[in-house]
Amino acid sequence: MVMFTSGALSALLLVAVSEPQGVSGLRPSNFYSRQHAASLSMASTASKEGSSAPPSSDVLWTPSWKSGERDELFGPIGKYCEDLHEVTRRKTRTVNCGPINFGSDHPIVRQTMATTNTADVDATIEQVMRCADEGFDLVRITVQGRREADAAARIREGLFKKGYDIPLCADMHFQPKVALMVADCLEKIRINPGNFADGRKDFEEKIYETEEDYVSERQYLLDAMYPLVERCRDLNRCMRVGTNHGSLSSRVLSFYGDTPRGMVESALEFADICRSQDYHNFVFSMKASNPLVMVQSYRLLAAEQYRMGWDYPLHLGVTEAGEGEDGRMKSAIGIGTLLADGLGDTIRVSLTEDPEFEYDPCNTLAEMAESRLAINPEAKVRQNAVKSYDDTRDVTSYSRRSGALPEQNEGDVADVRGFLHRDGSVFLTVSPKMLSKENVQYLYQELGCKTAVGMPFKDIATADSIFMSTIPPSSDTEARTALRRLIEVSIGVIVPAAELEKDPLPNAVALFSLEEAISKNGELPEGAIRLAISLNGDEDEDAILKLKELNPIVCLLKPKEGISHLHSARRIFEIFNANDIETSVIHHFTSDTDDSNILALQIGTQIGSLLTDGNGDGIMVEQVGDKEHFPVDFVRRTSFSLLQGSRLRNTKTEFVSCPSCGRTLFDLQETTASITDATGHLPGVTIAVMGCIVNGPGEMADADFGYVGTLPGKVDLYYGKEVVRKSIPNEEAVDSLVELIKEYDLWVEKEVEEEKEEEVIAA
Ligand code: SF4
Repeated sequence: MVMFTSGALSALLLVAVSEPQGVSGLRPSNFYSRQHAASLSMASTASKEGSSAPPSSDVLWTPSWKSGERDELFGPIGKYCEDLHEVTRRKTRTVNCGPINFGSDHPIVRQTMATTNTADVDATIEQVMRCADEGFDLVRITVQGRREADAAARIREGLFKKGYDIPLCADMHFQPKVALMVADCLEKIRINPGNFADGRKDFEEKIYETEEDYVSERQYLLDAMYPLVERCRDLNRCMRVGTNHGSLSSRVLSFYGDTPRGMVESALEFADICRSQDYHNFVFSMKASNPLVMVQSYRLLAAEQYRMGWDYPLHLGVTEAGEGEDGRMKSAIGIGTLLADGLGDTIRVSLTEDPEFEYDPCNTLAEMAESRLAINPEAKVRQNAVKSYDDTRDVTSYSRRSGALPEQNEGDVADVRGFLHRDGSVFLTVSPKMLSKENVQYLYQELGCKTAVGMPFKDIATADSIFMSTIPPSSDTEARTALRRLIEVSIGVIVPAAELEKDPLPNAVALFSLEEAISKNGELPEGAIRLAISLNGDEDEDAILKLKELNPIVCLLKPKEGISHLHSARRIFEIFNANDIETSVIHHFTSDTDDSNILALQIGTQIGSLLTDGNGDGIMVEQVGDKEHFPVDFVRRTSFSLLQGSRLRNTKTEFVSCPSCGRTLFDLQETTASITDATGHLPGVTIAVMGCIVNGPGEMADADFGYVGTLPGKVDLYYGKEVVRKSIPNEEAVDSLVELIKEYDLWVEKEVEEEKEEEVIAA
């Protein structure tokens, strides 16, 4: 997979050559590694102060974007990726990091971050070794201060002794001097422009209105960065200029706001300092917990790099993605979308799980991306099979194309308005056997309905419509009654028109292909209440224009075999937009996987990449193959997760939980599980669970409530960005959080509410 020797393999090499373990015994056949190991010794504690910075006027700062100078010099923002119609990696330079390289001439680097306390050298060595054995190419460790810098040196040396040359990255916040020390002993330093030098307290008091105000602080940044850049350049260390949406400095927030533009400008300033010292061995990142913000920021940075002729690699990640399928889904939406653009040279899937568990999703996303590259003949054929179209998406802003909702007509005996939801719909596939007498109550629950005296009712996360490729015969009165009940509570039942022609179902939605609908002039089968049309992504524009006359309530978009899903879907939306076709479009996604994590990654990558462009009004997942591996309920929850992760429709509490690292002050996985258990039923509420105060409050971005570790055993609770409860003992903190949510009137007693509703319904 990778073009360098992995940790595990170098261990084998060490054994094979029978040299004594240790730095001097590392891979004797590899001169570079011998040098690499020798240069990464315990030198950190002996570090000298770096040189003083020159005046900030000596730096060639990137011309201002706000003043329009940049446009004047480089022209307007243009392309953001190599090719809009073929997946081609953006050409990036090679950035060296010990035994590995980042850049478009190299495979995508898979990386993770240790969750152990860095001062616990043995535990960290063990965890890094497990990560290397799993397949990771690089591991980041947190370095809070001098003690951890010394530990980092010992961890590096300990790993070499055990035969592991996997490079390490130090995660630095606020500590320029410690960063300087740790640059001696590790291969890579990650700095956060939001707090490395730009987090100075007195910046917070100021309002930066003019360009002069803003640039007047640059000497301070330069003073902090100069020695580190000098050290990294002289020792050939690698750096990540890692901006986070949630921890932009007050200075950037004041001047640019809480925006992708602010993230990009913040990173460019730090890159300018590197470049002015002729140091180019760095990569960028633009992470956010909101995948839409994250995608937009990376695309904007790529576009800025294109217009200025820069070629620094990108490290992709969604921060605080959470755990389980939700965490994988959010990561897939953000990372998968950008990889499909050909952007990204290294990825990290941040999960609130042990780092080893990040490998599978990380590797799967990288493999999916590599298989979609047009350098693969099959992928190229699929991408070239899409009919030609102009891609007019504006990647510098997000706006959703909201499809029209069904309108109620006089004489309609069913309420069709609920067949779609304004914030995004979930359609589920249902088979006739699920409607049998013994299964039907179970099916109602799987569809997300509440029930009272055996009758289904819609709830917050109920499927909006169901699709049945075949229906039970009208002689099956039990099953037909169940369908009637669903339609009566405004759940659409979509059935192929040919089926309805054989045996009508009152008030069903008849599904035609576009060709069929045109040939029948949109005439409905007996009993059907509305028309839906399936599109295969390959229709001619002239045929698509007929949708205006046919006026279906929805199109189901399922690109046919043999053409690129992404590009054919983009083409359809371009045609809709250019011709003011307002019909809602549901992405019809098929999968035969039996792995729930893979399903989340597939959906996140393939459909998320369209939803992040604002294209699509929902999803229908159809399981194909010999067997349906997942129950309807699981598919429903996964589908709603996609809509929530794509910022369309919230049906549950949004959790932003940090992945944990050496700074974490409580058991993050256990605590997140308790908080989820207590508060997971509050759609519209966002709760951040952050392991430490150093980084946590900054990274909570737009959470309503924050649960942040402050001292061992103590937690602070936040409302927005304000601390409202201080130093709560861990064991009381979840209850205290619940009380706080009640105080702000955002609490709902789940059971009580349900009971009441059932009583009303029964009455
Ligand atoms: S919030 Fe703190 S504990 Fe959590 S990953 Fe970030 S630095 Fe580590």
